[in-house]
Amino acid sequence: MRTAKNLVPATIEYRNFTITTTGKTIKAVHPSGFELKAKSVEAAMAKVDEAVGPAGLGACQWFARCDNYATGLTSHPVLGVVPTCDRCAAFAEAK
Ligand SMILES: [Zn+2]
Repeated sequence: MRTAKNLVPATIEYRNFTITTTGKTIKAVHPSGFELKAKSVEAAMAKVDEAVGPAGLGACQWFARCDNYATGLTSHPVLGVVPTCDRCAAFAEAK
């Protein structure tokens, strides 16, 4: 397995994230500014997969504290159209 020690500085585009390796630091940065740190490129990719979720929409943004993966988009009264999970979408519809 490649570790931070033997990596040369590099940039990899992965699922809308830019993974950069500089010395011991491996960062995956999303255009929104969201940032993940990992100890290997593989770990960074795994974290990106985790953050992006199966639908590729990332985390639900309906509630700041919601940790579910978004499964669709819902129009939020304050935030505009945001990625939402099934639970929050149902909540939004019920309102
Ligand atoms: Zn949610």
